[in-house]
Amino acid sequence: MSAAMESARSASAGPELDVVVVGAGFAGLYMLHRLRGLGFSAKVIESADDVGGTWYWNRYPGARCDIESIDYSYSFDPELQREWQWSERYATQPEILRYLGHVADKHDLRRDIRFSTRVEAARWDDDASLWRIRTSRGDEIRARFYVMATGCLSLPKTPDVPGYGRFAGESYYTGRWPHQGVDFSGKRVAVIGTGSSAVQSIPIIARQAAELTVFQRTPNFSRPAFNGPVTDAKKAAFDTDPAAYRAAARLSGAGVPLEPGLVRAFQVSEAERLAKYEEAYASGELLAFGAAFADILSNPEANATVCDFLRGKIRSIVRDPETAEALSPKDHFYGTKRPCIDTSYFETFNLPHVRLVDLRKDPIASITEQGIDTATRSFAFDVIVFATGFDAMTGAIVSVDIAGRNGLALADKWADGPKTYLGLTTTGFPNFFAITGPGSPSVLSNMAVSIEQHVEWVGRCLADMREQRLDVIEPTPTAETAWVQHVNDGAEISLFPRANSWYMGANVPGKPRVFLPYIGGVDRYRKTCDEVIRRDYLGFAFDGPAGARCNDGVVCRLQPDVAMLLDALAELGVPPMESLSVEDARRFVIASAALRPPGPEVGEIVDGELPGAAGGLAYRLYRPASPGPHGIVAYFHGGGWVVGSADSDDPLCRDLCVRSGAIVVSVDYRHAPEARFPAAVDDGFAAVRWIAANAAMLGGVPGKLAVCGWSAGANVAAVVCQLARDAGGPAIAGQVLLTPATDCDFTRASYAENGDGYVLTTALVRWFRDHYADPADRRNPKASPLRAHSLAGLPPALIVTCEFDPLRDEGAAYAAALAAAGVDARHLPCRGQIHTSIPMVDVILSGAPARQEMAAALRRFLAAP
Ligand code: FAD
Ligand code: NAP
Repeated sequence: MSAAMESARSASAGPELDVVVVGAGFAGLYMLHRLRGLGFSAKVIESADDVGGTWYWNRYPGARCDIESIDYSYSFDPELQREWQWSERYATQPEILRYLGHVADKHDLRRDIRFSTRVEAARWDDDASLWRIRTSRGDEIRARFYVMATGCLSLPKTPDVPGYGRFAGESYYTGRWPHQGVDFSGKRVAVIGTGSSAVQSIPIIARQAAELTVFQRTPNFSRPAFNGPVTDAKKAAFDTDPAAYRAAARLSGAGVPLEPGLVRAFQVSEAERLAKYEEAYASGELLAFGAAFADILSNPEANATVCDFLRGKIRSIVRDPETAEALSPKDHFYGTKRPCIDTSYFETFNLPHVRLVDLRKDPIASITEQGIDTATRSFAFDVIVFATGFDAMTGAIVSVDIAGRNGLALADKWADGPKTYLGLTTTGFPNFFAITGPGSPSVLSNMAVSIEQHVEWVGRCLADMREQRLDVIEPTPTAETAWVQHVNDGAEISLFPRANSWYMGANVPGKPRVFLPYIGGVDRYRKTCDEVIRRDYLGFAFDGPAGARCNDGVVCRLQPDVAMLLDALAELGVPPMESLSVEDARRFVIASAALRPPGPEVGEIVDGELPGAAGGLAYRLYRPASPGPHGIVAYFHGGGWVVGSADSDDPLCRDLCVRSGAIVVSVDYRHAPEARFPAAVDDGFAAVRWIAANAAMLGGVPGKLAVCGWSAGANVAAVVCQLARDAGGPAIAGQVLLTPATDCDFTRASYAENGDGYVLTTALVRWFRDHYADPADRRNPKASPLRAHSLAGLPPALIVTCEFDPLRDEGAAYAAALAAAGVDARHLPCRGQIHTSIPMVDVILSGAPARQEMAAALRRFLAAP
């Protein structure tokens, strides 16, 4: 056949294979096995000359896993689990490579792997609905589906060191280590880098080398792995019931069965905290510190206690105080750069022939022919080891010239950061899957668990498509945009984005700063992926012989911490409040309040009593630490006019006080059913009048008074503003209404959409309203401020509503009505929040921006002339 005929034939031909998989590491091997088992034709393309991926390339001395081998291994083959015994807790690279070779042999995988072949380009052919994959051998393979199993840490980054390439001696890269090994005996050796690869290799290189100089830019948190034989306890836990053990790993946060920390670091005494850290240290488990307390990776102060503890350990090991100081990480929170576990790493710096160069003080000026020049010194070496890391998560993917629909290059689409749906797929690139791609838990987990989950999801998806006679799948733009947002929402409530880490792309010059993995945990993530399938592939469009169809939508709409809260509440099985008696409901609210974090410290808290409409009312005053006098905010608590008290919103009041710099006076009011409508609002108005009249006595500035409230309390605040307007005073500078109850109309869409499952249910709103006001009174503007004859002349307002709140639409309606009446009213809709989440200071971190906006509004109102 002529070349022209061959090219014409190939252009019109269908796929030769169902699937091409790139990469023969943990992921590619299992993907091939799975596809075969499902009856698909598949080939793996691998640039190395054997299987192993990470464990093929990283042969540097000391290379071993940092997740225990029992966990960091396949679970799909029960026989393999029985027959393979790991010799150590943390197996060496050769042992892991042998294991992967054994898996390849056992399942006869090599016959479908093309080794020593690099995939250079992949082009989606829209007419033929297939991928054209070009390899370094110059050929093209046509496949229906294209799976990148190219690894998160497989493309070493080119060292960005001045003079790179000039060195005339031996240069080695930890991620591309020679198979025959390297003999350092008698040599002057430099290691650049102090990440995991360096931390593992430095002690072993030091044993051989005549001199070892370590060039450190950023010190890393590391601690002893206490490696050795697999412990009896671990072995027993696994052997007793391997299936249950693996199931627990899949349902854990990081893919390792480990008790998650439920208690916050400052909920225990310092002695208890330190004991917990000693226990974590002694465990030798990478994840033990992150799991020690619930807030280690989200609360700077909690994290700082781990940092202090670990710095103390470094000082106790390294004899030279200056070196110990230089080796102590100070510029990032623990865990926000991948921490290390080691064998004698810090001890190595006590050896006389080992020295540390702190590049923060004495940066590299240039690599020279003889060695390395820093700003102040010149070093000569025989060997330089580059332990400078990888272009992580996206590097190996975009280094292939991948073009999707209409020739769109993936590298261009991801120029500002990767955009994926579930970290598996990306819009514009049909039938493309990335195993442990960006936007999936991947490197924040035991990768073996995450790889298996992705491989099984892809296998299931392809099998479903075959069954339903569909041959093209692509995520919708809506689903992808929302997923990217969800991944970012997760990152934002953690400390991770604050570090210059490879998780953020910060190690590669010019790479966009985007948090690359998904922080939500492997358990939640797995549930989400399963939910996508259960909801008929929500967020995907399909095409094929069975026709085209699209199931557009968003799978995770709640803020990540709100979703976790709802799951935790569901697990507790709390009875609906409306099923309780009023007394029990009040007892329940008081008991739950005792368990929450207290909120920030304020300057002073004073409890007192003020005259209400029909007797004394308790109040609690929160004073800022700054010198007064201050503006005053009269605050009304939430609780459906039935439950709550002057101190029931304590954390929110403290937060508002600290952020706004104002005195917050949280006023109690009479509750229903004992005191029904209009007792609450009459008390609210009486309280505001008293506060205005006694501002100076309270430490406030007379005339500087704003009101604020949450839920029913926001209803009270809104009504008080109307009463004050109508009575000609007192002057109120502004109103901040958080998820206010403003009307009595249950037909608004938010009652139908959010009436169940988001803590405040429609049934509970009815229960509250029934206790509070007779049907005849409900349309009275003092009960439903939205129904006032006029809203003109009211104080400026900030109205905060939450997306998943039955009261959402009446709050929005009040904001719109105020604005229509000429009031300076701003509406702040909070995406992914529920009625009760914004007041949950230090629990719902995603609510902090709204709390900040509320405080900023109060500050602005009180500053106005
Ligand atoms: P890889 O193992 O990276 O395999 C990808 C393969 O794709 C490579 O063989 C590569 O040659 C090939 N490839 C890439 N691009 C192309 C192309 N264009 N054409 C052809 N072939 C290509 N994770 C843990 O969970 N626990 C650990 O203890 C742990 N230890 C680690 C230690 C080191 C030194 C490193 C670097 C990483 C470690 N990781 C660990 C992360 C590790 O990368 C994963 O656990 C896992 O091995 C990844 O498997 P993979 O198959 O997805 O990718
Ligand atoms: P890494 O964590 O990115 O570390 C690279 C080191 O090189 C860092 O100390 C970095 O300093 C330094 N560096 C990079 N460029 C430099 C420059 N131009 N000048 C000076 N110093 C420079 O890479 P890694 O050690 O290979 O590890 C990568 C990941 O692979 C790990 O985080 C882990 O997930 C995995 N891994 C695991 C193990 C294990 O224990 N199982 C072992 C190896 C790797 P900065 O921090 O200042 O950028």
